[in-house]
Amino acid sequence: PLRENPFSMTATTPNSAKHKKAKALKPGTIRPAKELCSECGLCDTYYIHYVKEACAFLNQQIPELETQTHGRSRNLDNPDDWYFGVNQNMMAARKLQPIEGAQWTGIVSTIAIEMLTSGKVEGVVCVQNTKEDRFQPMPIIARTPEEILAARVNKPTLSPNLSVLEQIEQSGMKRLLVIGVGCQIQALRAVEKELGLEKLYVLGTPCVDNVTRAGLQKFLETTSKSPDTVVHYEFMQDFQVHFKHEDGSIEKVPFFGLNTKELKDVFAPSCMSCFDYVNSLADLVVGYMGAPFGWQWIVVRNDRGQEMLDLVQNQLETQSVTSKGDRHQAVQQSIPAYDKGVTLPMWAAKLMGVVIEKIGPKGLEYARFSIDSHFTRNYLYVKRHHPEKLAAHIPEFAKRIVGQYTLPD
Ligand code: FAD
Ligand code: SF4
Repeated sequence: PLRENPFSMTATTPNSAKHKKAKALKPGTIRPAKELCSECGLCDTYYIHYVKEACAFLNQQIPELETQTHGRSRNLDNPDDWYFGVNQNMMAARKLQPIEGAQWTGIVSTIAIEMLTSGKVEGVVCVQNTKEDRFQPMPIIARTPEEILAARVNKPTLSPNLSVLEQIEQSGMKRLLVIGVGCQIQALRAVEKELGLEKLYVLGTPCVDNVTRAGLQKFLETTSKSPDTVVHYEFMQDFQVHFKHEDGSIEKVPFFGLNTKELKDVFAPSCMSCFDYVNSLADLVVGYMGAPFGWQWIVVRNDRGQEMLDLVQNQLETQSVTSKGDRHQAVQQSIPAYDKGVTLPMWAAKLMGVVIEKIGPKGLEYARFSIDSHFTRNYLYVKRHHPEKLAAHIPEFAKRIVGQYTLPD
């Protein structure tokens, strides 16, 4: 009989045993993606075995993973695909009875609860916060509606959602829902086949301009009048940051009045190099930026996404997405202003915000405005800080988006 080669794992060791021999990195140690690491959590588990292929910042493979997940990748002849990714339906929606304390109306939490209580999944990966700090992320596998509800509202900080992956295999769970942002979902898709699951559903949110916990503190202290009482904030479609405070009051600061010089290095290097704003690999994406103010924006990417949405349809009010205005000039003007760190006096920033809100891009055109502004900024960041990554790291759809503008050197 053939003798086993004790040094070869390829022929005789099943795939699952291979990664179990890998060792998770200890907290605080440098990660394989170095400064570009978004702390997605993969390297906190033995799935670090796959990091070279799986990490969104070491191996951008959005088109391949789109084909694996949705059956096709973005159609590069269709500019809507450049922006919003593979999709079969899009709409604006809001909950008839919003969840108190959710980021928007709580569509994400509601879907997760219905997935669990209907028995479609046995657990939900989501992120609560620690007892001591409302913005310190604490990823969990929720097994009750209460645990899902306790994870509502954004933790606007890098969150190691995938750090719970080892627990999935250990728990013997076979049907799972994962909630997450683009970089987490890219790594998840790359190791999906190794998780031993029968069914995986992925509910994503768009994500941009995320920060470390220290970076968040700096952002709050530089921008809000009362940083310690902020419970959540959002960059809104009216071109202002809305801070919600503990007492329920809303503080509004115009985008154009942000102290860009101070804030230039506040965003994490991972987020300055990210081109997956719209979470290309989720089955269903729930954000807000393509919808009218007060509504959420829903992108159904495939049949699993539709299946999730169907579960909550009777709890939603919906309307078609619309698009108004032309973003190009506003984006082109914002490029050198951001690049040079120009900060307008507050009165001028407020005035500009009012004017642009009246005549500026709306609906899907606002989403394109935000994508264009961030992709041009991030393109320049990668070009200057990691020129060797420019060709392979930036997906073709993003190169086409950036190619519409004139950029400084
Ligand atoms: P909720 O019912 O309140 O549920 C929120 C869910 O988000 C929870 O299940 C929680 O597990 C999960 N979550 C919270 N923080 C994180 C995190 N750090 N990483 C991964 N998962 C997390 N939408 C846009 O349209 N445009 C944007 O520019 C945009 N930027 C975002 C930036 C960040 C950092 C995040 C986390 C989200 C962003 N979103 C953006 C999504 C949007 O803010 C809402 O999260 C989304 O519309 C869902 O709202 P909801 O009320 O249904 O969510
Ligand atoms: Fe590891 Fe995730 Fe950081 Fe990449 S982004 S190095 S996969 S923890």
